[in-house]
Amino acid sequence: MSLIDGKASAAQVRARVAQGVAAFREKTGRAPGLAVVLVGEDPASSVYVRSKGKATLEAGMESFTHRLPADTDENTLLALIDQLNGDPRVDGILVQLPLPGHLDADKVIAEIDPAKDVDGFHVINAGRLSVGQDALVPCTPYGCIHLLKQQHGDLSGLHAVVVGRSNIVGKPMAQLLLSENATVTIAHSRTKDLPALVRQADIVVAAVGRAEMVKGDWIKPGATVIDVGINRLDPAPGEDKGRLVGDVAFAEAEPHAGAITPVPGGVGPMTIAMLLRNTLVAAHRREGLADPEGL
Ligand code: NDP
Repeated sequence: MSLIDGKASAAQVRARVAQGVAAFREKTGRAPGLAVVLVGEDPASSVYVRSKGKATLEAGMESFTHRLPADTDENTLLALIDQLNGDPRVDGILVQLPLPGHLDADKVIAEIDPAKDVDGFHVINAGRLSVGQDALVPCTPYGCIHLLKQQHGDLSGLHAVVVGRSNIVGKPMAQLLLSENATVTIAHSRTKDLPALVRQADIVVAAVGRAEMVKGDWIKPGATVIDVGINRLDPAPGEDKGRLVGDVAFAEAEPHAGAITPVPGGVGPMTIAMLLRNTLVAAHRREGLADPEGL
């Protein structure tokens, strides 16, 4: 069994992005820029936004963080996005989700210029991905496919079961696997006999949001398991915070799997690395340059 080290892979991607940023600066005389918009003070979102800003600077890019109060109205938020769309220093725009309940995330995402949509959530990018055109691809599934290609090289003909069909993980994950010539099955909450389906998989991608739902005996011997889930358990007595676990029962699954991602330290670190990669790619495309190589 091999443990898939997402931290190490993410560090490699980030180092390559930093080299790409230096080359981009030389060609264009400016750094790529990423703008992150946070509405409200959700503690988890604040942590994500801070670490995105830090990683952006570490890659040599410009970072613009916009923190808006929780009661910001839709027009104010849309006006900020328009301003960022028109700002030549900004190559990537990310609106941290979830938004407060009174704001419509679909409407907000639709306002982002698709060329700057580094989360890859705009319908134009989702459509491009599904028809096989150059798209900005959602960061988490892109990170997963990177890990899978590192592990397997060629994914042709492998049976991949993706558990979860969200627009941000499950669906783009399935599209990416298909574009790598895997045979793809998408499972969701109405799927019948999920354990039997998962037992057929050479590759399992779990993106459900339910702590340790995928059990060890669901895993075909030697299968590769990518665990996207991030779930915090209730704190044990005497603990301040509960443990972070994935959607796969790791200790049970590990002996069956050929390779598996841990939580934390698997898919998580790849998401930020791919955000930086997408920002660099967006900057190249906006300047009419070929996509950076090796990313
Ligand atoms: P969503 O809640 O949007 O989607 C969950 C999916 O799981 C849905 O398609 C749902 O099916 C399916 N599902 C729910 N219950 C079951 C079940 N019992 N059996 C089979 N399928 C089920 O979640 P996300 O896709 O946004 O996120 C999934 C997980 O990944 C979460 O834990 C999240 O925290 C994590 N995540 C991690 C990231 C990272 O950087 N590592 C980034 C993004 C997410 P249906 O459609 O039928 O309701």
